[in-house]
Amino acid sequence: MLPLIVGNWKMNGLSAELGGIEAVSNSVVASRPLAEVVICLPATLIDRGARVAAGRIGIGGENCHPEIAGRFTGDVSAEMLKDAGATSVIVGHSERRRNHGETDADVLAKAKAARRAELVAIICIGETKSQRDGGTARSVRGEQIVRGVPEDATSSSIVIGYEPLWAIGTGVTPLAEEIAAAHGDIRQQLASHLGPEGRKVRILYGGSVKPANALDVLVADDVGGALVGGASLRPGDFEAIIQAATAASRSR
Ligand code: PEP
Repeated sequence: MLPLIVGNWKMNGLSAELGGIEAVSNSVVASRPLAEVVICLPATLIDRGARVAAGRIGIGGENCHPEIAGRFTGDVSAEMLKDAGATSVIVGHSERRRNHGETDADVLAKAKAARRAELVAIICIGETKSQRDGGTARSVRGEQIVRGVPEDATSSSIVIGYEPLWAIGTGVTPLAEEIAAAHGDIRQQLASHLGPEGRKVRILYGGSVKPANALDVLVADDVGGALVGGASLRPGDFEAIIQAATAASRSR
């Protein structure tokens, strides 16, 4: 499977920034990378972002409500994202867990909603610094998988985003060996939760990925791509990360 590079614009982007989607889409057509590319956008930009991308790259949402429709003021369902042109949706991002109190049960319900709407669920997991320092990172991630990943998930219906919280937006990235070790653990946990399908699910690394470290990250064992926050807001940086994914694919 080709590596998957996912941008996460978070709560950033007005109409003027749609030029960045155009730039990345053009560069994907011109360079034909050995990688799949998705940019997850705020709900307000999905429809226009999908029109600009015109299928050259995928467009995703950053969150969805578990229900199809109803009395949920301010929420957006997976079906609405799909209708607007999304092909995937991030669920369980640590900022949602922290700022909105989302639990693994919520993440599970949202991942199921994504499947119902035929969106790929990019399910985020990861430990805090204190969990890491306390030696519980592996068990924390294992619980997030057991409780938050649907048991019937397949390698085409979900992607895992491993994002150690202490690396998100901090400029700090784990060593390539640490990433490989974490991904190896996650792989085992996915296999025991999902059976053979768990061996095929892509595991993305996320947390301060930038042009300078992208290749090191992407060649680490069992890294199936990257989830990119800050650097995805700079089209040139994001394109450089996509190029690093091509280089990583060639080196495998
Ligand atoms: C993220 O929030 O998903 C993320 C990986 O952010 P950053 O790349 O800015 O650390």
